[in-house]
Amino acid sequence: MIKFDIITLFPHLFTEHFANLPFKKAIEKNLAEYKLWDLKNFSTNNYGSVDDKTYGGGVGMILMIEPVYKALEEIYGKNIMKKQIQDEKNNSLDKGSKIIVLSPRGSNFNQNKAMELSKYSQITLICGRYEGIDARVEESIATDVISIGDFVLSGGEIPALAIMESMTRLIPGVLEKKEASEIESFSKISDMGKSQYIEYPQYTRPENFMGLKVPDVLLSGNHKEIERWRIDNSEKLSV
Ligand code: SAM
Repeated sequence: MIKFDIITLFPHLFTEHFANLPFKKAIEKNLAEYKLWDLKNFSTNNYGSVDDKTYGGGVGMILMIEPVYKALEEIYGKNIMKKQIQDEKNNSLDKGSKIIVLSPRGSNFNQNKAMELSKYSQITLICGRYEGIDARVEESIATDVISIGDFVLSGGEIPALAIMESMTRLIPGVLEKKEASEIESFSKISDMGKSQYIEYPQYTRPENFMGLKVPDVLLSGNHKEIERWRIDNSEKLSV
């Protein structure tokens, strides 16, 4: 069972996704739990705000450390600040837990990282908004800072969903067919001398759509030939 905790200003952006696959299946089978923490509930001032102007000047607002810290304290039931145990590399989290800040300046997420993270039992995802989050969160609290690519979105909600969805598909028992996640693109080291396996192209009916034909070999019923074609085409795409 993996427990996901998501700290966000927009919890409603997640609910429709959690009602659909693969999340729905993981919840039904008790293989994962997804808990939403509305950052607004952890405001520490009379106005109920969770963002403020950036020191030194600049455009826009950033999320304050205090509400984020309070939410984490509620999730973990303890102080999870790194400096508390005088060790910048570790915090007082259990070995099975990760606290992830989503940021375009984080390390790039990929299938290997999804596989690595899916071994943990508790993952907290902190979604930034506006111009980001007070840097002390990533410096002194988070275990990881992750980006889903070299582009900028308006918030960490889509990155959090992308990370959780890719991880959830890897939890044994979530996909109907075990092989589905084992033979997908990026799922294994290519045995063709390339570093990444990319899946071959696939087609379905009709055989001919406005002159666009399915490759003959796939209609031949010759399994050996089909397998050869798939390997060749996967090799062309693999990097
Ligand atoms: N000012 C920041 C910068 O220039 O790097 C961008 C902030 S962005 C508008 C607001 C939030 O969206 C970020 O704090 C982060 O949580 C999320 N975000 C945007 N792009 C992202 C990406 N590529 N990967 C992960 N999170 C991202």
